[in-house]
Amino acid sequence: MSRDQMRELQGKRLHKIVEYVYHNVPFYREKLQQMDLTPEDITTIDDIVKLPFTTKKDLRDNDPFGLQAAPASEIIRIHASSGTTGNPTIVGYTRKDIGVWTECMARSLTSFGVGRDDIFSVAYGYGLFTGGLGAHNGVEKVGAAVVPASTGNTEKHARLIRDLGITGIACTPSYALYLAETMEKMGITKDQIKLRTGAFGAEPWTEGMRQEIQQRLGLKGYNIYGLSEIMGPSVSYECDAQNGSHINEDHFFPEIINPETLEPLPYGQTGELVFTTLTKEGMPVLRYRTRDLCSLMEGRCSCGRTNVRMTAIEGRSDDMLIIRGINVFPSQVESVVLTMEEIAPRYMLVVDRVNNLDTLMVQVELRQEYFNATMDTPAAIDELSKKLANKLKSVLSIAAKVQLKAPGTIERSQGKSTRVIDNRKLK
Ligand code: ADP
Ligand code: ZN
Repeated sequence: MSRDQMRELQGKRLHKIVEYVYHNVPFYREKLQQMDLTPEDITTIDDIVKLPFTTKKDLRDNDPFGLQAAPASEIIRIHASSGTTGNPTIVGYTRKDIGVWTECMARSLTSFGVGRDDIFSVAYGYGLFTGGLGAHNGVEKVGAAVVPASTGNTEKHARLIRDLGITGIACTPSYALYLAETMEKMGITKDQIKLRTGAFGAEPWTEGMRQEIQQRLGLKGYNIYGLSEIMGPSVSYECDAQNGSHINEDHFFPEIINPETLEPLPYGQTGELVFTTLTKEGMPVLRYRTRDLCSLMEGRCSCGRTNVRMTAIEGRSDDMLIIRGINVFPSQVESVVLTMEEIAPRYMLVVDRVNNLDTLMVQVELRQEYFNATMDTPAAIDELSKKLANKLKSVLSIAAKVQLKAPGTIERSQGKSTRVIDNRKLK
């Protein structure tokens, strides 16, 4: 579709969705009335800026069914957000919603080169989390054979990957690394497995992490992004060009705003990602503030797709730590950790407050080979800590203490990983 055709379609759909929520969701009707707006005021996609924002707090205040627009009899599935940053919120889907989601997921998998001949394992958690069932439906839609492995029982999963000749996998990037580690321990080598495609998402990850996973599992790793409030995985997906993730913008209209002033920002500028669902029936949302930070890119991609792309998520605005007045993102630490070959791609930030002063400690794990080689040479360990501390300081602009830990001692996650322990909040 040309940009003009897309914008025309989006405008029509926006008008319809505003009309729909105006008549079916008291929360939105009141908000629009307070702003002196009626659905007739929204006729083109440019009118979107007139609409009110929706926040996570609005979702919580109206949980579980306050923002549901479809009657209960039309809802055929209920999921919940993972609750990474607080209580999970409930989302209901109609049959049409599940169909759109499945279609978007199939678009993503097709973009990753997955098709009928693949055996594809879904190792996102099945359950209330949208990852498992969301990916599952898409794999069936493209006609590959789905292996609903879910998380847990990683050794069994590793054997299945080898014995069935599984060619593709969907999971969090941190679980992919855990799987690689488990396979290495079990003595399963890259030439015994047929994995070639990974659909990784549900948490932020860096280019360094991608290289690491690709190298260890022998596959090509693609980014897939989504959130339950909007749909689930496949709100956007990478293509072979891997220069940003294409947004399914015929269903989810993206904007970037300045999270402080709420002003819309032009393409290319980093800010908070905001989505309006253009076709959703169960729980449509207007201008939902994701708190995810990234920028948007327009223009035809070398893969031929014309839909808008988003850059990798740099962090969540609520993931951002303020340490001694300086903004710190876990992803900054990750980018440093991944440049050091002595260290495993695993880390934890521990923040505390001592005598009214914030402190930051970065815990990392040594790689096994390096650990074995340096166990008896404290000087080498000391030097490595200093090297890491210096690198961190130059990237973060604040000093961090470094703690080098033995291999396998930082907790592994099977779903989304926790990277921060903030002890300041506990007091
Ligand atoms: P919660 O917000 O409780 O974690 P979800 O399970 O719906 O609920 O998770 C959605 C969030 O996960 C997104 O808002 C984003 O922060 C993160 N996320 C999902 N996919 C990606 C991805 N590919 N890259 C970075 N972050 C992602
Ligand atoms: Zn592309």
